[in-house]
Amino acid sequence: MDTYESLLAAVTAKDGKTNEVIDPATGELIGLAPVHGVEDLSGLIDKAAAAQPAWAALSDDERRQYMHRAADAIEASAEALAELLSREQGKPLNGPNARFEVGGCVGWLRTAADTPLPVETLVDDGKTYAELHYRPIGVVGAITPWNWPMMIAMWQIAPSIRMGNTVVIKPAETTSLSGLALAAVMNQALPEGVLNTISGPGSVIGDALVRNSKIGKVMFTGSTPTGKKIIEASAGNVTRLTLELGGNDAGIVLPDVDPTAIAEGLFWGAFINTGQTCAALKRLYVHDSVYDAVVEALADFAKNVPMGNGLEDQNALGPLQNKKQFDIVDRLVESAKASGARVVLGGNPERDAKGYFYPTTLIADIDPQNDLVIEEQFGPALPIIRYTDLDEAVAQANSLDVGLGASVWSTDIKRAREVASRMQAGTVWINAHGMVDPRVPFGGSKQSGYGMEFGVEGLKAVSQPQVVSG
Ligand code: NDP
Repeated sequence: MDTYESLLAAVTAKDGKTNEVIDPATGELIGLAPVHGVEDLSGLIDKAAAAQPAWAALSDDERRQYMHRAADAIEASAEALAELLSREQGKPLNGPNARFEVGGCVGWLRTAADTPLPVETLVDDGKTYAELHYRPIGVVGAITPWNWPMMIAMWQIAPSIRMGNTVVIKPAETTSLSGLALAAVMNQALPEGVLNTISGPGSVIGDALVRNSKIGKVMFTGSTPTGKKIIEASAGNVTRLTLELGGNDAGIVLPDVDPTAIAEGLFWGAFINTGQTCAALKRLYVHDSVYDAVVEALADFAKNVPMGNGLEDQNALGPLQNKKQFDIVDRLVESAKASGARVVLGGNPERDAKGYFYPTTLIADIDPQNDLVIEEQFGPALPIIRYTDLDEAVAQANSLDVGLGASVWSTDIKRAREVASRMQAGTVWINAHGMVDPRVPFGGSKQSGYGMEFGVEGLKAVSQPQVVSG
């Protein structure tokens, strides 16, 4: 069982090149993360490749038991992991934040361990016999973002190791310690060489990881522009990819809703992790007949959700994780304000403060073509667009080149499902948004990426299908 201090000591750089990791709530230094070089990476990939045959040779049941022991180790050090995550990422300990994220890691790990993937009999007609096996690919390269640095790492690690692959994982630079700490705790239970970490700039280490010929599959979550670079870098070796890229999820509120009843769901759909979530609600289209009531109910809920330093118990919203993201949110809200849109809540950040806090912001009566609507804000600022014609709202929701999630809000489930069928997104939730589940496949459409994560589909995605015929 680790304490915060022992965990930090275990992942802090002892020598060599380092990167200062800053608490985004206070601007204070948390610790020094190691900065590895490309030469360290190739040694690490060799180590992962050397460990892979023995790991794959274990029975499925033996690998599952290792995974459950790794989940036990996370549970034993859960408080230390949550504190480090809260300090480094900024998200509060409480609410759907740091403790929730560490708990999610355990849930995803145990579910990936326990999801069956039997051999499929394809044809057995007396003349032909063919079956489909899912074999390990080899070494999986995993590249994670800074918004859910432990949970997303687990989404990549858990299915990969279950299927007999070993992993080399690179966390985002501004949240390296969280990724390194999660792996360090899991490695208290896993055999040497199964899960390996490397840290350093994405443009150097991430790029070299993708280009390495011993990497059979890359799991990436992050921005669409970086995803496109990874596609290019993977071409040389025809490396398999799962890409979970950004989105700009739309929600459509139908006229039959009870505004007060949906306010809480709308709020957390949009503001979970202070809006820094790939599948958060980022554009809300509300029918004219309930528009004012929905905006008011949402504002009433939103103004009572405390934002502040994540280590203080009462807070449920934290700072933006980094200055770059603060500036994106600030620019987009300023563009909305300049266009004459109505600021219902927030929109007035303290730009000179030490932390990157951007207040909870609701922007109403906004032009559907405003930058805050058509660009991904990835922060706590929700544009609310008024519509009168549902077909037009669906067309606007579908008009962007991304499509990760979407939602429809209605008391009429049949009607909601019909609208859902017309929305271009990998997942459409009804009366909720962003509710991912380790048993249910998740992935994007259009430039939000390709490949499915979670559930049986997620296990297949980190396997090499092999037909045995005869
Ligand atoms: P990036 O996509 O640049 O970073 C994600 C990961 O990719 C990080 O580990 C990064 O490393 C790594 N990386 C960067 N360049 C390369 C490369 N050439 N080859 C391989 N790996 C690379 O995200 P940003 O941090 O720049 O965020 C920008 C925007 O992305 C946000 O505003 C948001 O819109 C979106 N985003 C979406 C996320 C999602 O969950 N889908 C998560 C985070 C951001 P390093 O950190 O060291 O640069």
